[in-house]
Amino acid sequence: MTGPRLTGPRPSRRQFIAAAAAGAGGAALPRPLRAQGAQAAQPRIVVIGGGFGGATAARFLKRADPRLDVIVVEPNPTFTCCPFSNEVIAGLRDIGAQRFGYSRIAADGIAMVHQAAIGVDARARSVALGNGTSLRYDRLVLAPGIDLRFDALPGYDEAAAERMPHAWKAGEQTVLLRRQLAAMEDGGTVVMAVPALPYRCPPAPYERASLIAWYLKTKKPRSKIIMLDAKDTFSKQRLFENAWKELYPNLEWVSLSSGGNPTAVDVAAKTITSDFDTYKADVANVIPPQKAGRIAELAGAADRTGWCPIDPVTFESLLVPGIHVVGDAAIAGAVPKSAFAANAAAKVCAVAVAKLARGEPPAAPKFVNTCYSVVAPDYGFSIAGVYQPVNGQWLEVEGAGGVSPIAAPPALRREEAKLAYGWFNTITAEIFG
Ligand SMILES: Cc1cc2nc3c(=O)[nH]c(=O)nc-3n(C[C@H](O)[C@H](O)[C@H](O)COP(=O)(O)OP(=O)(O)OC[C@H]3O[C@@H](n4cnc5c(N)ncnc54)[C@H](O)[C@@H]3O)c2cc1C
Repeated sequence: MTGPRLTGPRPSRRQFIAAAAAGAGGAALPRPLRAQGAQAAQPRIVVIGGGFGGATAARFLKRADPRLDVIVVEPNPTFTCCPFSNEVIAGLRDIGAQRFGYSRIAADGIAMVHQAAIGVDARARSVALGNGTSLRYDRLVLAPGIDLRFDALPGYDEAAAERMPHAWKAGEQTVLLRRQLAAMEDGGTVVMAVPALPYRCPPAPYERASLIAWYLKTKKPRSKIIMLDAKDTFSKQRLFENAWKELYPNLEWVSLSSGGNPTAVDVAAKTITSDFDTYKADVANVIPPQKAGRIAELAGAADRTGWCPIDPVTFESLLVPGIHVVGDAAIAGAVPKSAFAANAAAKVCAVAVAKLARGEPPAAPKFVNTCYSVVAPDYGFSIAGVYQPVNGQWLEVEGAGGVSPIAAPPALRREEAKLAYGWFNTITAEIFG
């Protein structure tokens, strides 16, 4: 692969600035765009998505080469994090603690364009924005996260999600599920539907069920939670199951082979049907199957699975040259779809893109992922892995990772819960602080 060529017809910087200003409703442009207006053009990297993957990529691109012209396209003026949103649902944390602004990213000399990307013309190397303008790029980093498949579970569409929240994108959905739980009478039943892999954050449904069980146990002790699962096995399973045995007799997990696979929902009747039975819910949390954020499909970077195949060294799309995909949207082999991994992968991708922009070969990367789960205040555990590309695939380095001990004193679980909060504070400070 070679670096991008900066020749060929494209909108002038003046045209771009005028278009972006019009799109921003006439608001003042981000400073870097104005400040650099008179300088010679530098390679322009457009990043779609200002979440864990995209915001990290933008900052590390600028760090890898301050001369790069880096622009982030993100519709929302603040980002709401999924990690720890399960605590919001359980009433342990305020949603405000999940929100982060972009001012520090802009202060790095990165232009923030608060628009949705609605199309990508990979031949012309340009991104169409919701306000009718477009942005030229030399390389594009796609980090749109996930979209929910509203066609995968009969009865579950966007309207149904207003009654049976998924809460798998943090924000209003998280608050909706929290409100429904708070309003539920003691003695009620919460039913969760959990999909098969791949989906965003493999252990998060089990963490969520644990924290909902904690809430019910402490505030509505006659209530219970039932998980209907499309799987027989899951991440950190023994640790979760031991915690449930110890803490949560009010939590029932129905595995695939016990008939748990969710097959349909009925919003009017408030039921979820599984392979063997129909469950009536007072509160239903339906996590449907997922795919890469829609813009990945529009860009031609998603394959039939709905996810984006990539070269593991550069994260460049195997389908569309010049587009790199990081975060949940990418097919990254053994690497789980986590914020930790999105952040790590985005750093690797940023360095690779900066090198490619200079016409240099990227180095073979390795990175770590750690997923913490907090199942009660003061009760946490984790799984860690080290990953490297082997024959075009991200594989786990055998023997390099680990999982929390199955038997451990409460002090260790307490320590791990603290480490989990520490991780969240560190990663959000690195990305948004
Ligand atoms: C309940 C829950 C708990 C979790 N807990 C953890 C945890 O403890 N640890 C962990 O590591 N991970 C956790 N995760 C997973 C983590 O949230 C994701 O893996 C991570 O957010 C992926 O980063 P991303 O950049 O791919 O997507 P996101 O962080 O979702 O960012 C995507 C961004 O792209 C933007 N976007 C989408 N489409 C467009 C478009 N067309 N134009 C412009 N912008 C667009 C969105 O607005 C969004 O800001 C959890 C997830 C859930 C659901």
